[in-house]
Amino acid sequence: MNITELARILKITPQELRDSLPRLGFDIGQKAIKINRNTANKIIKEWPSLKKQLEKQTQADEAENAAERKEVAVKKSLVIEDYITVRDFASLAGLPVKIVLSELMKNSIFASLNEKIDFETAWLVGSELGLEIKRAKTRHQADEQPENKLKQILAQEKKESLRGRPPVIVVMGHVDHGKTKLLDAIRKSDVVASEAGGITQHIGAYQVARQNKLITFIDTPGHEAFTAMRGRGAKIADIAVLVVAADDGVKPQTIEAYRIIEASKIPFIVAINKIDKPEANIEKTKQELSSQLKIIPEDWGGKTICAPISALNGTGIDELLDMVLLIAEAESDHIKANQNAPAIGTVIESHIDKGAGPVATILVQNGTLRLGDELSLGNFAIGKVKSLIDFRGQKIKQALPSAPVQIIGLKTMPQVGDILQAGAGGKIKFKKNKSLIKKTPSPRPENENESEKNIQKINLIIKSDVLGSAEAIEESLEKINTEKIKVDIIRKGLGNITDGDIKEAEAANAQIIGFNVKLPPAIEDLAREKNISIKIYNIIYDLINDIKEQMQKIVEPTVRRVDLGRLKVLAIFKTEKDSQIIGGKIINGRAEIDSLIEVIRNQKIIASGKLSKLQSAKQDVTSCEEGQECGIEYIGEPIIKNNDFLNFYKEKNEINKI
Ligand code: GDP
Repeated sequence: MNITELARILKITPQELRDSLPRLGFDIGQKAIKINRNTANKIIKEWPSLKKQLEKQTQADEAENAAERKEVAVKKSLVIEDYITVRDFASLAGLPVKIVLSELMKNSIFASLNEKIDFETAWLVGSELGLEIKRAKTRHQADEQPENKLKQILAQEKKESLRGRPPVIVVMGHVDHGKTKLLDAIRKSDVVASEAGGITQHIGAYQVARQNKLITFIDTPGHEAFTAMRGRGAKIADIAVLVVAADDGVKPQTIEAYRIIEASKIPFIVAINKIDKPEANIEKTKQELSSQLKIIPEDWGGKTICAPISALNGTGIDELLDMVLLIAEAESDHIKANQNAPAIGTVIESHIDKGAGPVATILVQNGTLRLGDELSLGNFAIGKVKSLIDFRGQKIKQALPSAPVQIIGLKTMPQVGDILQAGAGGKIKFKKNKSLIKKTPSPRPENENESEKNIQKINLIIKSDVLGSAEAIEESLEKINTEKIKVDIIRKGLGNITDGDIKEAEAANAQIIGFNVKLPPAIEDLAREKNISIKIYNIIYDLINDIKEQMQKIVEPTVRRVDLGRLKVLAIFKTEKDSQIIGGKIINGRAEIDSLIEVIRNQKIIASGKLSKLQSAKQDVTSCEEGQECGIEYIGEPIIKNNDFLNFYKEKNEINKI
């Protein structure tokens, strides 16, 4: 019996089954596909008691793990490369492998001992286990890190040319805790901007003025930009606002967001939101912050500013902005740029517009970006700034440090987290860079080689609740890639499905996969209208199985019927239990050995069979043509009579194309 079938009967995932069986004394191996039927039947029969046995074991293991974990009291620091096997990670961390495996499992990653996990996964799991994980870098790699490039540029600037720039703020927190509402409330709080009129458009970030000072807020759906940037080592935000709803407290994404803030080493403020709700409990929220995250509020003697707010009715927003400015003031040494240099900035949003082509929003981090500037990404020129649009939708001629600005005129769509540099014009020719090609959905680059052309791709945009699950999905999908069909993840992002995702899916001919996220009805309607497939899952196993099924459908050949010819039956020489030998004349087309046969009487198909032997002039032949008389051996229901017609045809397999 297949493992998958047994797992289905037991209502668990195959991986859970593979993990459970050795613990119950059935050693079938991690890679087993089939299981002996007797053993399977035994397991099915005894499953209720086996399940109880497993639960008991798990409880005992957890107690043991907790005890062992306590021993890792000292925060250990590990330096690892881009990938590490689970076994090596555990030994480096000095932890029992099962603790690492169970932590991975909590993040929906079912890895075996020798499987490699990437740095991001190791970092996430390590943080949960109280470890400090650092990436090992070669000199060369270190130079290539985008963050370092920025650092290098800033370090080369003379002190006297550096001026203060607006602080850049990112808002993070658990889903539904009010991040979007808070960003809306802040936008509305800017009287100057509202008086100036103009509807703000979402370009990934906006600026507000408070106490005559500008503040930039990153405003991307699901705050993907910030996460993507962290993954690539870049730093865009100076200060984070961690939103926690006072009626819900600390939740998994609150913890994840905090870990990201911690790793980025940027100062932060906690905004305790929804204080207008009767069930809001500020003290309880603070308690959870201090017990679960070791965030001690200022009024409890700690260092963290916790600002109570209601994003819904605007309470506390001005005070929150004042706190942001206070922190910016304290950090002012780091929040500086030279506005007289060629611009350099990070992409915080990008998409392909049907009319305008690739459109990207960058946050200018040093220098001033001007109309007409040539932009490059790494060593590749990617286009000229033809038009600059600010967050109010107004055309501008230049963008200063910390300003978000939309650029039109690019030849290639850069990705969120890419660093663009101005002023390289003329020196570097436009050339397609391999990493860009992979990420740029369409059109197909010309220099793609032949073998790549033969690879069929399933393009996906993945939206998930937490970074860990997106990475687990990506890793599992990589494992099911075959030589002929590959899953191409156009983009991974956090948060609910948005119309931006639909636009991107449309441009990239991709499907959207949501994991533990919501699909708003309006977006569902839009997807239907644009014929974009969106599927929401909450079990990785189901997601992977669906994609596998799609791959299967692509490789499974379609059977196409090829009609060969027709014969009129003129004589029946012999009739057996399931065969006949008959004679006849081919009235059109031809007959071929191994043809399939339909027996026609009164224009109806009355039986079907196969041509196993063909003779012409008493000689065995492989085919007979129109006009010839021939004898055939027919295998099938022996009901053929004189004057029936036989249709000959063959079935051809055709590989499906996407
Ligand atoms: P996000 O997922 O963190 O971006 O959360 P949203 O901003 O979309 O808010 C989730 C829900 O909480 C929405 O229905 C908001 O109207 C509601 N909400 C946000 N802030 C407040 C608040 O201060 N008070 C109340 N009562 N509801 C809020």
